[in-house]
Amino acid sequence: LRGVVAVDGPSGTGKSTTARGLAMRLDARYLDTGAMYRAVTLAVLRAGLPVDEAATASDGDDDVVAVALGARVSVSTDPAEPRVRLDGEDVDAEIRGTEVTTAVSAVSALTAVRAHLVAEQRRIVDEALADGAGIVVEGRDIGTVVLPDAGLKVFLTASELVRAGRRDAENTAAGRAGAPDTQADLARRDRLDSSRAASPLRAAEDAVEVDTSTLDIEGVLARLQHLAED
Ligand code: C5P
Repeated sequence: LRGVVAVDGPSGTGKSTTARGLAMRLDARYLDTGAMYRAVTLAVLRAGLPVDEAATASDGDDDVVAVALGARVSVSTDPAEPRVRLDGEDVDAEIRGTEVTTAVSAVSALTAVRAHLVAEQRRIVDEALADGAGIVVEGRDIGTVVLPDAGLKVFLTASELVRAGRRDAENTAAGRAGAPDTQADLARRDRLDSSRAASPLRAAEDAVEVDTSTLDIEGVLARLQHLAED
């Protein structure tokens, strides 16, 4: 792959596994933008600042924005070993935990935070393209906002029940018993991600929608690889 593949959709659609697997198959780089929002959220929580929907409803608390913009987040784009660092520390496990998962949608709704991370995401993509590499980028607003010129845009969907089941299985596998990613929490995050003023979750008009409810990962990958190589 030489260009850009944008993979968007709500949580639990198999987005990360799919996007990463696709990058491996296409010998491309891989960017998980959700990990960047999660790392910035961790920085805000570590600073002891309150993160709730009211405090971050629109433009947000100045302190929250200042910490979020000051956080040094770096990501590796090797699909064999995607890593996220906050101030040099590997925070890959911590950003998938309960606290960050509960708070991330509120921090992601802040316009200033989005502008900052979108610029960084475009820089990472430009760097890959300048190196002659292709890149698979996953998130919520990649096809609509971050990379509207992406050569292929995919929007993954799955029924709520299937998505909650996948998230539970993921949490069990990672030893996170009692994580809040049940059906109710997914519904809450979807509602926040879809209703926020800044770059709400939606499919780009020219995105190919793939319903993964009844497909296994191999089935989804085969479909996407075919689309990417078309
Ligand atoms: O994909 P993941 O579940 O890791 O994303 C975590 C959260 O980050 C999402 O629920 C959403 O609030 C936010 N996000 C976003 N825009 C992106 C990627 C993630 O707002 N491009």
